[in-house]
Amino acid sequence: FAATKSPAIDSREESLFSRKFSDSREESCLSRNQSVLYRKSSPHKPSSYLIAKLRSYEELHKRCGPRTNSFKRSIKQLKSGQIDNSSDCKYVVWVADCGLGNRMLSITSAFLYGLLTDRVLLINQEQEMVDLFCEPFPTTSWILPEDFPFKNNVSGFNQNIGHSYGNMLKNNTINYSTQSLPSYLYLYLSHDCDHDDQLFFCDQDQALLSKVPWLIMRSNVYFLPSMFLMSSFDQELNKLFPDKETVFHHLGRYLFHPSDRVWGLITKYYQDHLAKAEKRIGIQIRIFDAKTSPFESVMDQILACAKKEKLLPEVDNEKYISSPSKNQTSKVVLVTSLFRGYFEKLNKMYGEHPTKTGEVVAVYQPSHEEEQRSYWNSHNMQAWAEIYLLSLSDELVTSAWSTFGYVAQGLRGMRPLILYKIDRTIPDPPCGRGASMEPCYHTPPTFGCKTKKTVDTTTFVPHVKHCEDIRWGIKLF
Ligand code: GDP
Repeated sequence: FAATKSPAIDSREESLFSRKFSDSREESCLSRNQSVLYRKSSPHKPSSYLIAKLRSYEELHKRCGPRTNSFKRSIKQLKSGQIDNSSDCKYVVWVADCGLGNRMLSITSAFLYGLLTDRVLLINQEQEMVDLFCEPFPTTSWILPEDFPFKNNVSGFNQNIGHSYGNMLKNNTINYSTQSLPSYLYLYLSHDCDHDDQLFFCDQDQALLSKVPWLIMRSNVYFLPSMFLMSSFDQELNKLFPDKETVFHHLGRYLFHPSDRVWGLITKYYQDHLAKAEKRIGIQIRIFDAKTSPFESVMDQILACAKKEKLLPEVDNEKYISSPSKNQTSKVVLVTSLFRGYFEKLNKMYGEHPTKTGEVVAVYQPSHEEEQRSYWNSHNMQAWAEIYLLSLSDELVTSAWSTFGYVAQGLRGMRPLILYKIDRTIPDPPCGRGASMEPCYHTPPTFGCKTKKTVDTTTFVPHVKHCEDIRWGIKLF
């Protein structure tokens, strides 16, 4: 792995990502310090305002986080159901849903909401998420403690529970003039949330929610772009993120450090297969529907994209490689997919035939799990390792609609080549460069808060537009 030069650590990035953790914590999070050896330092600099905000958030989390006296008082208040002003700490509790990419995007959205509203973010960590990430904040924890009052049933909270904000609005058990608000509310912000749930995105509702100390939030989407459409947060967001395209890039790199176990998977794979190449090309192949995405068509789409974008050299099908090449591999392709066929085809192609340019191409795939098993811990560790490995690529090809790919491109800090959604036939063009590296919010609200009428929210501000891969989705540019 000596082949990779360690890039100089940019001082601003250092201050954002390598805070002072006590020695024992540093030992238990190798990736926090070693990541600079593997990934390029970010060309996108965080604003000094963001850095200061993160430092003050860390202080808040330390003061209000689990095991503090403020936390104990806040739990008492939660149990009583009444707001008693015994603590000035406020919380947003994140509850998991769906695959790892979705989870990482919704955690990031919840964290930004916490930053904007001075709320401490706590993660309801199910067994399948244990030991994926290091603790992001120094000398405290973001894991919801086991003795949290709703710990045993919070993962079962769904859209229908009576205590959800949307349902309380519907039933008129809460309204904007309610005097005595409850000590907690449940927010349902997943992909299928309805109009009332989505009132969360209105300034008037935020004024009410700001008085409630505990918000329990279930979400599986990157709802963050919709916060950029709200006047309550507008000024602060402009100061935090002068460059709107880098919101997930900065927050994702700040929050998500692989645990030592996952870091072991990443570094071993990198050193064994990727380190020596001159160029690393990541290709993420996500099949959502086998009927509309037949194997041969997807394979042809990938090859057409590689040719059009000059990603990979063409092979000379008339000739065969007689003995393994002694030449240094010049390009490696890292394929990630639940299935093995795409790797096999590419590997056979470059293993049997010489390239027309004389370059040597090696193809690897770390796993082929065949099925999504997001409720298995080891499966999620493998998924996280592969997302991270993709983010170490020099060039990245992602699949339309996939949050797995969004996380990789965001952590990498590059606009990917998107394989457009296939519907039996290969789209023309087969792929195209994303116009922004930000993830897409697949299911944003489509009404105006004042008129409650359907509107195109992308007409509100210049930096929120429709996504390249999902017509009705929105993203930051
Ligand atoms: P999305 O469904 O593509 O938006 O991404 P998610 O990450 O939310 O959910 C898909 C899940 O399927 C992942 O988290 C993994 O558990 C699994 N999966 C999908 N593609 C891959 C892959 O290429 N490699 C591995 N290891 N797992 C994958």
